[in-house]
Amino acid sequence: MTYAFKCKDIGMQCGFEVHGVSSRDEVMQLAVVHAKAAHNMQTVSPDVANKVSSAITG
Ligand SMILES: [Zn+2]
Repeated sequence: MTYAFKCKDIGMQCGFEVHGVSSRDEVMQLAVVHAKAAHNMQTVSPDVANKVSSAITG
């Protein structure tokens, strides 16, 4: 079982995606690192975290 996430699934004009990740927590971490680096988010709000969580497929 692996998990995937696409940034555009949370409404971003962004081609970032991860797939083949073995845990939801790891997808979350990758998404947070990406959001900080690519979307200038100093912190990831609970709202964004919820969106990411619900957009994770797998
Ligand atoms: Zn993105």
